[in-house]
Amino acid sequence: MTSTWTEPSNTATALLLLGRGTDPASERGVECPGDLPAPSDPGLVARATAAKAALGDRVFVLGHHYQRDEVIQFADVTGDSFKLAQQAAARPGAEFIVFCGVHFMAESADILTGKNQQVILPDLAAGCSMADMAVLGQVEAAWERFEDLGITGEIVPVTYMNSSADIKGFVGRNKGVVCTSSNAKRALTWSFEQGSKVFFLPDQHLGRNTAVLEMGFGLDDCVLYDPHKPGGGLTDDELRNARMILWRGHCSVHGRFTLDSVREVRERVPGVNVLVHPECRHDVVRAADQVGSTEYIIKALEAAPPGSAWAVGTELNLVRRMALAHPDKQIMFLDRTVCYCSTMNRIDLPHLVWALEELVAGRVPNVITVDEETAANARVALDQMLALP
Ligand code: SF4
Repeated sequence: MTSTWTEPSNTATALLLLGRGTDPASERGVECPGDLPAPSDPGLVARATAAKAALGDRVFVLGHHYQRDEVIQFADVTGDSFKLAQQAAARPGAEFIVFCGVHFMAESADILTGKNQQVILPDLAAGCSMADMAVLGQVEAAWERFEDLGITGEIVPVTYMNSSADIKGFVGRNKGVVCTSSNAKRALTWSFEQGSKVFFLPDQHLGRNTAVLEMGFGLDDCVLYDPHKPGGGLTDDELRNARMILWRGHCSVHGRFTLDSVREVRERVPGVNVLVHPECRHDVVRAADQVGSTEYIIKALEAAPPGSAWAVGTELNLVRRMALAHPDKQIMFLDRTVCYCSTMNRIDLPHLVWALEELVAGRVPNVITVDEETAANARVALDQMLALP
């Protein structure tokens, strides 16, 4: 059986013209300095190839799975955020790490790489809406509230990899741990051996899905701390009784899939397997057949038998790439509307060409640097993750 990839329809939500303009309300509002090549320049592939060849082993290009194909073709390695940071750390000889991903990923790479290496984000406006939902001042205000209640001694803070270096530093300072979507259960298991409560940042869905579906907690063991409400919108008793205090953050890509998407695809494609990422909402994950990290999704689709049908709830660039790589399987997007990560997609070929050519010219653009104190604290939380049993 063969299948043909069908593009989901456009939504009314226009993306910013990539590489141009800013949206300070939702992104970092930073424009690229200097002149970007025009997206229509027919020589972009040749220019990127030539610049990368001129830099040789001095440059190492990382490509996150959610990046566009036009960028992925130049990646020396592809992966999820943690694998890419590890790969960067494993290349101490590369002077420049060009990170085709988003801001928090480049920060993690800077934390894990040597002082002689510089991490470059081709477009500084490539942030992450989820990471931006937990700001250090808000998190410290929440912790003060817990201190006033006298419960900080019982709480272990856990932050998802998808958080700023500041937040990882906060977690390291307070004896917590970083987790990924692959090891969230192990991180929570370790945390509940250290204390009786977890303060989970910034993705409420990963925290709830892991605690309830993998560890046997009830939904009523979880409370949602909303930084935009006084006291987080929770009473003293709610905080005292909770086992999981979830930060009110989510991924604006995975949070878009709904129970209706699952019902609709099951009616339309009998026998379809619904495969979703744990950043999806709890009801969606419950209704799915399989749930797992980006790496899990890739492996599951690779191992699927020919002729099988899969509706996948994760970022569209990855789903499209998997569908095109496996035409003997029917791989489709779980939702019918576009679901790109708009900030991840800001890294396009013109930005990559610009960054590489700047390096060839002896200028180092868009360097991502984490200050030493924050990096040291964040490293404590990252090392704790690496030491998880
Ligand atoms: S897909 Fe979601 S979590 Fe990943 S970078 Fe985009 S907004 Fe952030």
